[in-house]
Amino acid sequence: DGVIWLDGELIPWREAQTHVLTHTLHYGMGVFEGVRAYETDNGAQIFRLQEHTDRLFRSAHILGMKIPFTKEQINEAQKQVVRENNLSSAYLRPMCFYGSEGMGLRADNLKVHCMVAAWEWPSYMAPEAKEQGIKIRTSSYTRHHVNITMCKAKANGNYMNSMLALREALDSGCEEALLLDNEGYVAEGSGENIFILKDDGILYTPELTSCLEGITRDTIFRFASELGIEVREKRITRDEVYVAEEAFFTGTAAEVLPIREHDGRIIGSGKRGPVTAKMQSMYFDQVSGKREQ
Ligand code: PLP
Repeated sequence: DGVIWLDGELIPWREAQTHVLTHTLHYGMGVFEGVRAYETDNGAQIFRLQEHTDRLFRSAHILGMKIPFTKEQINEAQKQVVRENNLSSAYLRPMCFYGSEGMGLRADNLKVHCMVAAWEWPSYMAPEAKEQGIKIRTSSYTRHHVNITMCKAKANGNYMNSMLALREALDSGCEEALLLDNEGYVAEGSGENIFILKDDGILYTPELTSCLEGITRDTIFRFASELGIEVREKRITRDEVYVAEEAFFTGTAAEVLPIREHDGRIIGSGKRGPVTAKMQSMYFDQVSGKREQ
């Protein structure tokens, strides 16, 4: 139930349908965002809305897709779906896709359709994961096709390997996968960026040539600078993760999530470390409006 914004109109959830010949369904050329609204004293507030909308438009630009709405309209659509569905907190999914106006790779009459849906989506991790941390494994799938050309686009077609990697991790009793880039360096989780804290007290995270330019990642950069913790972007090997003092994932869905075990090796103390805990508490204060955005 509820309403979804589709091509400029709010329509009942059940009526927000698309044809089986929807081009993006076949070829994966589409772009999307994952956004969150949090409960605050001033009602539901969407965290870093403008940055998500900017990234959506950047992703579309990379794919050569022209979104037939302005950024202001897409921002407004996101506020509307939260408001009209009476959500106090929500996960939002804006997506732009090619319709069923044409088929085949050469179709040149395709229209760009846009939708925004919002719903209440509790964490997909067990509640204790935020405190205890999760177990991850290095994936046999890589982010190869995302490297260099696609890491700035949050594009539908980029997620097949993420899903294969995640499934493989879950099947082997882990909670998330760590994908490597095509040279074997650490890239990112299936939908998260990774940070490690080494014994030099510096936080390290992969460069943007092998992972999505995460908005939560950027939030961590800001927190670290406030705390006087240096962050360095560099190539990270999987054994650097094994011997890290602390490691955590960041993402709109995952928020700030400690990693306690990687490929069967306990990381640091095997518990959420103090820097990870601090980043988490700053993050939750920020999104709930207890700190200024
Ligand atoms: N990496 C990938 C592949 C993702 O899908 C996401 C989620 O959007 C992230 C990283 C984290 O990005 P953000 O913090 O903007 O949600």
